[in-house]
Amino acid sequence: MGNPRYANGSLRRKYRARFKAMEAECGICKGRFGPIHYDEPSDSSHPLSFVIDEIRPVSKWKAFGYASPRAAAEDWTNLQPAHYFCNAQKGNKINFFEANTGTKITKAPTVKDGEW
Ligand SMILES: [Zn+2]
Repeated sequence: MGNPRYANGSLRRKYRARFKAMEAECGICKGRFGPIHYDEPSDSSHPLSFVIDEIRPVSKWKAFGYASPRAAAEDWTNLQPAHYFCNAQKGNKINFFEANTGTKITKAPTVKDGEW
């Protein structure tokens, strides 16, 4: 088993190096929070640090027609660089920030039944 994201560590490292060389902006907030801090460790104490985000969640590989979770995780066209912070907020939601046109990013609103 194992985590499909790390099944091929060297490919993953290559992708990270490629994004870093491009100095690409965060694909989730589209640079709203500034450039990605490529040299910081990827953890919660560095919210603007660099993580690779899967545009189509690996956990839903079947729905997106991938042969395996690993195929989804290794598809270059399915990957984008992101801030640690943005990636953590996005979770498994696709285009989470698309509808958000304001400057303040909050967690996705949850509509409860019966409040209207
Ligand atoms: Zn971001």
